[in-house]
Amino acid sequence: MIVMKFGGSSVADGERIRHVAEIVKQELKRKPVLVLSAMGDTTDHLLEAADRAIQTGVVSADRIAGLHIKAIQELGLNPAVRGDIEPLLEELRNLLLGISMIKELTGKTKDYLVSFGERLSVRIAAAYFNAVSIPARAMDAWDAGFISDSNFSSAELLKESWDRIPRLLIPLTDQGILPVITGFIAKDGNGTITTLGRGGSDRSATIIASACKAEEVQVWKDVDGILTADPRIVPNAQPVEAVTYEEAAELAYFGAQVLHPWAMRPCMKSGTPVLVKNSYNPKALGTRILPSREGKTGPVLAVTSRQHVTLVDIVSTRMLGQYGFLQAVFSDFAKYGISVDMLATSEVSVSVTLDSIYDLEPLAADLARIASVEIKTGRAIVTIIGDVRRSSEILRRSFEVCVKLDIPVQMVSQGASKVNISFIVNDTQAAEVVKGLHREFFENRKK
Ligand code: ASP
Ligand code: MG
Repeated sequence: MIVMKFGGSSVADGERIRHVAEIVKQELKRKPVLVLSAMGDTTDHLLEAADRAIQTGVVSADRIAGLHIKAIQELGLNPAVRGDIEPLLEELRNLLLGISMIKELTGKTKDYLVSFGERLSVRIAAAYFNAVSIPARAMDAWDAGFISDSNFSSAELLKESWDRIPRLLIPLTDQGILPVITGFIAKDGNGTITTLGRGGSDRSATIIASACKAEEVQVWKDVDGILTADPRIVPNAQPVEAVTYEEAAELAYFGAQVLHPWAMRPCMKSGTPVLVKNSYNPKALGTRILPSREGKTGPVLAVTSRQHVTLVDIVSTRMLGQYGFLQAVFSDFAKYGISVDMLATSEVSVSVTLDSIYDLEPLAADLARIASVEIKTGRAIVTIIGDVRRSSEILRRSFEVCVKLDIPVQMVSQGASKVNISFIVNDTQAAEVVKGLHREFFENRKK
């Protein structure tokens, strides 16, 4: 069997659900299980409706009801399907009324509230699949074995779920029935609805795939896979054919449109391959995330960047031959709750980068007691994800690019993850460096 997960934009309206059915039809022989997100931005709209109920006392689920009823019409479904979703919409209105009266949204209520998005989407999609002769069954996650702890907004599944899920799903796929399961949600042992956290339906899919020992999990998004660069910076960025789980995790951290490392973990454990595909462009090959990629690609997989970074340079001759200096420095960072990203040291200095969200004055005052401190704002981290066995070649070619562009590199670090090389340049130069590196590693076509 395989698991196919479609995100919000892949099921945004009737038209998109039609495309999903086309895609699923191609895979019916592989016994798919479907996991769906809420339609479009429904999760946000649910939260907005609660906000409005609290702030203004206005109780309205019209926007949410409207989107789903319109989809039923667009799909030409029997009006009886409206009868399937009407009780949910009524329950939602009652909940919003309750929220407007209590004027608060606890974690528990919030999870109950946002669960309506996925519960509505699977019912409509399954009704459509049946209408086009794909025998399907809409299932709430708890009917598919998802039992979680009671950590609202970030629930973790209980161990017993891992046996329950295959026990409930495999008999269905064996009978040729397509289970259409709500992503994102679960129920705790008391029967209270929980969620796995925003964007959690990717994780629902990888959990099902590894619990059922699926051949593959397909994650259908609205991009062609993991790209070699941010297409807003590099318009001819290309999809990467294959990456390892570790590389994908690095890329996710640097903002690539890919699975969150937390979503991939179940598949990493079981070695289940993940295929990231574009439901808006199903012909594109997509990106495979695998345990190993056996030199399928060149030395560099992707070039990414992150702006609004601050560089802190801490210099002290007292560091020379001493111990405990770094501890003193980092206990100051810890004291102010400042999280450090990149790090480079020499005998007499330590340089770190951090997000430009912190007020650094108190930290600088403390550090000034043991070192001289320089704070440089307006920097960017450019990161190359690649094969670190070829790091010398990657570094040489990267620096040649910077020399040609006449852009000084201000700090370099090669991650212990063995797949990432990062350096700091000015914010204003980051896009130029990314473009230059992309040209060097991908557009010149030399490997
Ligand atoms: N609908 C949920 C969200 O928007 C879960 C998901 O889409 O993965 O966060
Ligand atoms: Mg969503």
